Amino acid sequence: MRDLLMIPGPVDVDADVLAALAAPVPGHLDADFIATFGRALKRLREISLAPGAQPFVVSGSGTLAMELAVANLTEPGDRALVVNTGYFSDRMAFILERHGAKVTHVRAPLGGAPDAAQVEAELRKGPFKLMTVTHVDTSTAVLAPVESLVKAARRHGVLAVVDGVCATAGEPFHQDAWGADVYLTASQKAVGVPPGLALLTVSPRALEAWRQRKVPVASVYPDWAEWLPVMEAYEAGKPAYFATPPTSLIRALDVSLGQILAEGLEARFERHRRMARAFRAAWSAMGLRMLPTSEAVAANTLSALYYPDGMDASLVGRVKAQGVAIAGGLHPELKTRYFRVGHMNRVTAADVLATVGAIERALQAGGHRATASGTGVAAAQAVLSD
Ligand code: PMP
Repeated sequence: MRDLLMIPGPVDVDADVLAALAAPVPGHLDADFIATFGRALKRLREISLAPGAQPFVVSGSGTLAMELAVANLTEPGDRALVVNTGYFSDRMAFILERHGAKVTHVRAPLGGAPDAAQVEAELRKGPFKLMTVTHVDTSTAVLAPVESLVKAARRHGVLAVVDGVCATAGEPFHQDAWGADVYLTASQKAVGVPPGLALLTVSPRALEAWRQRKVPVASVYPDWAEWLPVMEAYEAGKPAYFATPPTSLIRALDVSLGQILAEGLEARFERHRRMARAFRAAWSAMGLRMLPTSEAVAANTLSALYYPDGMDASLVGRVKAQGVAIAGGLHPELKTRYFRVGHMNRVTAADVLATVGAIERALQAGGHRATASGTGVAAAQAVLSD
């Protein structure tokens, strides 16, 4: 029997999204596909709340989305400020350095929020070409205070690049209103599509900075110069070719973005908040300690939890034996000491109760007797019935 997939991506996707993938493969020059791609681009702009931005949809994973931002906005010697909340902020720094940037980190304490005063002080010292923030770091489940960080970058005339891979369509983000220059994401998490698409919305200011480059982008595939005419053409209802678009995945993306907009962004964010609250109530009742040091910095798209005393990474397998797939740790400092539960995209009250119940049974099967059976489920239920 199939396990309930509760890892922090890829996540379970809707049947209509799967049906879009199962239909005959569209040609990239088909009139239907041209309309679908154009609509998906417009919908991506709506999801980022960025009516003025240029959307890009490219075949690749979230790491390519990071590189599509960095490769175009950095030239050798540029300075970049990385607001670092974990593993994926380190990855951003790694990509920046490969493209010749000089990176300064403002490191948040493990599980904590970055210090706004320290970010402000670094921005003042500058000058930086760009600042990067991981909206939700999937290794720590820390939700960064993106609005204030992006606004600080704007005050200092620094381009703000936000990695939304574990947040987009699950956590509020107002790209235009906050002044973010790039919101980058991928298909396989709260966007609700299988893995394989790198997605970006880019501000006119970032496009202008790219146009002013003195040296060409170092490699061909991530170069906006190749992709921009393709995106503009499809949005204008015409086909264009640089490299074969993943036609089936783009059709699935269009279906999922349509569903997200039909649910309503605010309603969707509220559902994610509510499910996360129910999970947090369960963790607390079960005596499980979260990696994020307070509710204020805890993501709504996943939970990261220390194994209770006497338990180790074998818990992940024990939960799987109860029918629910969860994930182990990822942060290099603590990898073997915690586990992660994804709660995004289609997540429902039924998923919350099934997952908490499976973890309770797995803890008991592992000899952990600290919490009575049903304690976590009851706490989650109290939030869900509110
Ligand atoms: N950024 C964040 C916040 C992520 O969670 C991930 C993937 N888990 C990535 C970037 C990289 O994405 P991918 O694995 O799709 O390359």
